[in-house]
Amino acid sequence: MASERKSRGVALVTGASRGIGAGIAARLAEEGYDVAVLDVLESQETVAAVERAGGKGLSVVGDVTKAADRTAALGKIRATFGRLDVLVNNAGVAPKVRADVLEASEESYDRVMTINLKGPYFLTQAVAKWMIEQHGAAPEKWRCIVNISSMSSYVASPSRGEYCLSKAGVSMATKLWAARLAEYGVGVYEIQPGIIKTEMTKVVTEKYDKLIAEGITPIKRWGVPEDIARAVAACVRGDLAFSTGEVINVDGGYHLRIL
Ligand code: NAP
Repeated sequence: MASERKSRGVALVTGASRGIGAGIAARLAEEGYDVAVLDVLESQETVAAVERAGGKGLSVVGDVTKAADRTAALGKIRATFGRLDVLVNNAGVAPKVRADVLEASEESYDRVMTINLKGPYFLTQAVAKWMIEQHGAAPEKWRCIVNISSMSSYVASPSRGEYCLSKAGVSMATKLWAARLAEYGVGVYEIQPGIIKTEMTKVVTEKYDKLIAEGITPIKRWGVPEDIARAVAACVRGDLAFSTGEVINVDGGYHLRIL
């Protein structure tokens, strides 16, 4: 735990023991936030990065799909910090095996949908109730929720249909929470990452190296976690305070239709 600085608030980032979530947690600490991490693994490296940036860090081991873990995590954040201003729903998984939609299993469907959509949906519900309570006590304070979805929200990949469905669901969840929470001063945003270099994309490195070299993205490089983290920081700072339910593509321009 570090520092004399004045905290701007407290953020919870899920799935931040590594990858995009770790980048977001470190960036939010640089923005002045204390950061709790909920991940199935201990997040000591992320906590250390948060503390190097001058924030207080808290690693909570838990599974976003389990109601008891969600409740315990929020209880621990309440006991440690007494408040929560920002939720970043980042934890997510790809299917263990890429299987054609004609062959895909119910088991994989349930796993991916539960982790990517159901868990974050009910975590958001619990956090939203707490944010509404905090709004009553401090209505001037800016609060926000950021969902990390994917370009798979709108790109059909028949070899991982369950992933696409889960991310399309996250896009609707963004709209639902944005509509419901606006009156309580909570902005809700969605970041749609493109091809980002993390553990998740390690298995498809060669494929994406080739596609990027051939120009699949107008900006010819892999994205990195910091690209996503900067976009999250803009949302959290309140730079988009008169926007809610907004989708931000962080994809090297992949979403453009180019003739
Ligand atoms: P990653 O490196 O695999 O990191 C995801 C983290 O979430 C891991 O630490 C993982 O733990 C954790 N996690 C998984 N299931 C969880 C659960 N039930 N409860 C709590 N934590 C859990 O993935 P990433 O590339 O950083 O992806 C982060 C987010 O960005 C995901 O939602 C992903 O869909 C999205 N995204 C990524 C890309 C990309 O190109 N990388 C593109 C578009 C969208 P384990 O070690 O157990 O897996």
